This record gives sequence, structure tokens and C-alpha cells, in this order.
Amino acid sequence: MTSPKKKSAQGKVQRFDVLVVGGGLAGGTFSLALAGQGLKVATIDLENPAAWTDPGFDGRASAIALSSQRVLDAVGIWDVIEKEVAPIKEIRVADGHSPLFLHYDHTQLGTEPFGYMVENRSIRKALNVLVPKTKNLRYFAPARVAELERDDDGVRAVLDDGTQIEASLVVGCEGRGSPTREGAGIKLTKWSYEQTAIVCTVEHDRPHNFCAQEHFLASGPFAILPLPGTDAKPGCRSSIVWTERSDLAPVMMRLSDDDFLEELSLRFGDFMGDLKIIGKRFAYPLTLQFAQSYTAPRLALLADAAHGMHPIAGQGLNMGLRDVAVLAEVLIDAKAAGQDLGSDAVLARYEKWRRFDNTLMLAVTDALTHLFSNDIKPVKLARDLGMAAINQVPPVKKFFMQHAMGTVGELPRMMRGENL
Ligand SMILES: Cc1cc2nc3c(=O)[nH]c(=O)nc-3n(C[C@H](O)[C@H](O)[C@H](O)COP(=O)(O)OP(=O)(O)OC[C@H]3O[C@@H](n4cnc5c(N)ncnc54)[C@H](O)[C@@H]3O)c2cc1C
Repeated sequence: MTSPKKKSAQGKVQRFDVLVVGGGLAGGTFSLALAGQGLKVATIDLENPAAWTDPGFDGRASAIALSSQRVLDAVGIWDVIEKEVAPIKEIRVADGHSPLFLHYDHTQLGTEPFGYMVENRSIRKALNVLVPKTKNLRYFAPARVAELERDDDGVRAVLDDGTQIEASLVVGCEGRGSPTREGAGIKLTKWSYEQTAIVCTVEHDRPHNFCAQEHFLASGPFAILPLPGTDAKPGCRSSIVWTERSDLAPVMMRLSDDDFLEELSLRFGDFMGDLKIIGKRFAYPLTLQFAQSYTAPRLALLADAAHGMHPIAGQGLNMGLRDVAVLAEVLIDAKAAGQDLGSDAVLARYEKWRRFDNTLMLAVTDALTHLFSNDIKPVKLARDLGMAAINQVPPVKKFFMQHAMGTVGELPRMMRGENL
């Protein structure tokens, strides 16, 4: 931690309740949630938000569980993106080309879909629309925290342009490489899967029928995730997350468009007709990491800054939005009770509520990654039989389907569809 000795280049100190460092998917949603309830929030992001909607910024689309959709709805993001999402009505999980597969249909639980596919860019675009209209919220972007000090009295930060900020609490949500976490000396446990996720968007001849598919190949999972499509070809666009060995991924990334399409088609299959790649390819190296603590005096970590997992189950952002909903609820309740927002007692409530759930999800995704990223015959047989068994036992299947919707566990108010 460094101390802010520099005198203000931008006039007097600006006072807020909470300083949020990293205003992306999790940090931006969190900032809107707090400001909507009357807390004064300063949010700092390294990037110029104008660049966020560029198709080259982040090629990912995220599977958002129903409970996460409720959080986006509560903060106003859903209203902006509603026309750009695709519902997930079915989930099909297959082990390579095995005839045994898992199949979930949302009608077995009710009328609501399991969740929605949302392009990350859409959420960022919604932040650009909502932030300027939100009272109590001030975005500083592009900007960086140059100095940060925390003590019993509060948090003091100096931005790189000399702006001085004071708050009761700083929340680090800068993603996996969080400087707030590192500056606080919070240790990180981390390992690599030696896998890279190649992400791209494809257009296909036949519609996906809003079915999310995951095929477990020897190099790792290959996911075909439904996107809305175009007016001319509704339901004919999908997001691809192709997990490849890290030594092979750069080779795939360097292939010509035609050769890349050929490799992709080998894995995709021909069940949706001819394929066409839309836009750029992106590569994300895959690691597991978790912060050894989510809090420090007057500091909390949120989403990927606290935990990063393999995308095998599409849960990273869903877990991050759970953190958002829980920390927002804890802080709103603390404010109503007249408590210091940065006090140890308030932060302990957040850590206790989120740590176990996140650690469990990290363990599950880690186990699934190891179980499914290989072609060892007895392991393959055991997992195929396991999937067939889940398909055949209705209560077990229902439990897994509720998990996919994110409606299991101790849900915060926003995830139950209640007011914050
Ligand atoms: C291939 C892939 C597929 C995925 N699919 C899914 C899925 O289907 N479903 C799901 O739930 N999750 C999925 N995830 C996980 C999900 O993308 C992440 O969990 C999510 O993006 C984390 O959000 P975040 O806001 O914590 O971090 P980020 O999205 O990384 O945002 C961090 C923000 O902090 C800013 N920042 C960085 N450094 C600084 C700094 N020094 N100062 C100020 N600001 C800074 C950045 O500009 C950015 O705006 C996937 C991940 C991968 C890699």
C-alpha cells in the first residue's frame, strides 16, 4: 500500500461511501446497485468505456443463470439488453461422440428458461447508457488509482490525474490481476490447466432451438451456445468456447480463416449445416485462482478479483454476480443500521456468506475439468454411466437443473427477485 502524499491537482477531496476499483461486468453492476439505493459511489476503470462496445474488446458471451438475470434486472441493465439476449431452453451435455448424453429441458421445471446467453459487450453497452443517468454514481474512466491508503478513519485514494477521493470502503473488482488485492498483500492460490479457451461467433444454416451444447473432447470442453441471430436468419448464430491444449491453441489461432473453419467444423459437427465465422477469434488462457481472503481492513474483493474458475460450467460471472448481490445487500443493511460500511463486522458477513459457495464451485469446476479433459477408457466409461444415471433419476436431474438456474443455496434478496 502506498500513501497519498501528492497534493490535489483537482481541487478539494471528493467524499463517497464506497470506492469501486474496476467498473466492468461485476464492478459496474455493483456500482449501479449501491447508487440505486442512495449510497454515494466512485467507480474507477482503466479503460475508456467508449471502447467497451468495440467488437474487438471482448468476444465472449456469458451464460447467465436465471438468478443472475434477476440481478441485472434489479439494477436496470436487463431493460437495456433484453432484445439482445437468447434464452437457454435446453442443455445437452455429451461425452465426445458417445450415444449417452445428459439432456435438460426447462419445461420439466416450469415456464422460465434456465438462463440467457448475453454478449459481454451488451452488458458493457448498458453500463454506458445507465451510468451517466444514475444519481450518486461517478465514473472516473479512463483512470487509475495511483495511491491508496486505508486506516481506521477510512480509505483515501489519489487517481493518476491527482483527483483525491475519500470513502469508507474500497472494493476491488479489476478482474483476475486485481492491483487492489495485490496492494493489500492478499495471497493468491493459482494453477494453470495448460488449456486455452478459443472464443468466436459462428453463423449456421439451421437454428439452434435455444439449446446450449457442451461436448467433452480429449483436449477439453467444446461449447456451442445460442445467440439471437439476425432478422434474416433468426436463431442461427452461436458463441463457441473451444478449449484447446495450450501448446496447440496458438497454432489454431494462427491458421488462415479457411483452415480455422475446417478445424472448428471437425469439432462442431454438421448437425446445424454449413458454418461461417463472424468477427475475430479470441484466446483466453485458463487458470484456477482464489484469493486467500476476500476482505482486509476497509477492503473487499468481488468476482474474478476474488476467484477465477474454468469456464467448463459457465459459472464465473454467475458467481461474481452472487458476490455483487450479497455485498450490496450487506452494505445497504449496514447503512440502514447506522454501521460503518468498512468495519470488520460488516465485511465478515460478506466473506462468510460467499467464501464457502465460491470455494465449492471452484472445487466442482476443477474436478469436472480433470474428469472430462481426457480420453482414458475406464474414466470415460464411468462418466458416461454417471451422465446416464443422472438422466434416469428425476430428483437428481431436477437438482442439477435448479443448479443450472442458480436458484439453489442461500440467495440474496436481488436473486430472489425482491427489492434490494
Ligand atoms: C472463455 C470464457 C468463457 C466464459 N463464459 C462464462 C459464462 O458462460 N458464464 C459465466 O458466468 N462466466 C463465464 N466466464 C467468466 C466471466 O467472463 C468472468 O467471471 C467475468 O468476466 C468477471 O467479471 P469481472 O467484472 O470480475 O472482471 P472483468 O470482466 O475482467 O472486468 C474487470 C474490469 O476492471 C478493469 N480494470 C482492470 N485493471 C484495472 C485497474 N488497474 N484499475 C481500474 N480498472 C481496472 C477492466 O478495464 C475491466 O473493466 C467465462 C470466462 C472465459 C475466459
